[in-house]
Amino acid sequence: MGYLKEKSIRGLVFVLLLMSVLPWQAWAAGRDTYTVIISLDGLRWDYLDTYDVPFLNQLAHDGVKAVMQPSFPSKTFPNHYTLATGLTPDHHGIIANVFWDRENGVEYSLKNKVTRADSHYYGGDPVWLTAKHQGVKTATVFWVGSDVAINNEHPTYWRDYQTEQLDFAERVDEIIRLLKLPENDRPHLVMAYFEEPDRAGHSYGPMNRMTRRALEDMDLLLSGLWARIQMLPIADKVNFIVTGDHGMASVDPKRFVDIDDVLPKRWYERFCNDYPTLIYASAPQYIDSIYDALQGVDHIRAWKKGELPAYLGYGTNKNMGDVVVLPDVGWLFADNPSKKQRGSHGFDHTAADMQVGFRAIGPDFKVGYEKADRFRNVCIYPLLCYLLGVNPSPNDGSLDEVRDMLR
Ligand code: AMP
Ligand code: ZN
Ligand code: ZN
Repeated sequence: MGYLKEKSIRGLVFVLLLMSVLPWQAWAAGRDTYTVIISLDGLRWDYLDTYDVPFLNQLAHDGVKAVMQPSFPSKTFPNHYTLATGLTPDHHGIIANVFWDRENGVEYSLKNKVTRADSHYYGGDPVWLTAKHQGVKTATVFWVGSDVAINNEHPTYWRDYQTEQLDFAERVDEIIRLLKLPENDRPHLVMAYFEEPDRAGHSYGPMNRMTRRALEDMDLLLSGLWARIQMLPIADKVNFIVTGDHGMASVDPKRFVDIDDVLPKRWYERFCNDYPTLIYASAPQYIDSIYDALQGVDHIRAWKKGELPAYLGYGTNKNMGDVVVLPDVGWLFADNPSKKQRGSHGFDHTAADMQVGFRAIGPDFKVGYEKADRFRNVCIYPLLCYLLGVNPSPNDGSLDEVRDMLR
């Protein structure tokens, strides 16, 4: 008896010693659940109530339904990378889809494969690396930033948006393939991206039968994915989240403020003609001229860098324009009206049309729970870290803001 007691005390001491030498993470990162997060680009929150989406409605019934507020600006690259890092665009560095890096004389653009792959623009610690560094395998099937070697590293499994053109069905196959890998190889986090309903929203506007059809197709696709997940041995261990990056507002070429009508070209060396419009003065003395000329112009608001209202959480990054111009929802400030587009986004991130749908189901989520207040998308990173059982890096979000959705 005495011998046994001594043996168990020795065992306990051994375990305690082991805990003190092994990194904390090795103990935290032991959850046997899996998290699959799907981003439907441009998933405006009220599409889910307006359009016929039986699968997404079922998720709300059996899981959690919420509205998520994007970060400013409500654009694709800034917000996908916010979802991944929990940092606002101002803090992670992807401040817009297109911006001017004056120091290096380079224009960063999502459409330029060289700048898009330049890892020095991507600050923060994306969750696929946070988790991977703590011993958790991670996978992405196209997610902004995951095909960039951030700190020389990718997720355990990833796909190159530039070179691999997987259609939507192939992306679903890839998610299932990943979840079927042998246990030791299987990722515990899978993040997948789909371009719809953003494309339809831009072409036809948010309230249009073609956008309706795009969303209904996505609903069917995800319902097929969920059915296949249900057939896996790990089915009851899968947390499944469907959300997006921003909403969509109706635009019209007639709702257009022409930059050439208000600013002489010699005042600025460059402007990035997206939402918001970032204006880079050609010399410091023109910053005031630009700012003054824009005050009182209808349908836009303009601020000097560093003077934006606090709620936008924007304007301190070194690559910010000297003057930031934000049109009213549905308006455009540029040198050319976009004749083709009927929908757009990038507006004030607190505007109703910019809000994002959110659905979640799985062992960690409540059943039939509708969250009363919208939450900020910077909270997705701490939520994913919680679901994976890993220690989050410093971020702008808070698990407390989304804890009520959890069991
Ligand atoms: P926007 O609607 O202008 O904010 O941008 C949406 C576009 O971003 C989509 O139509 C995609 O083609 C593009 N996109 C999304 N993810 C990536 C990526 N990882 N690499 C390059 N382009 C992407
Ligand atoms: Zn988008
Ligand atoms: Zn878009």
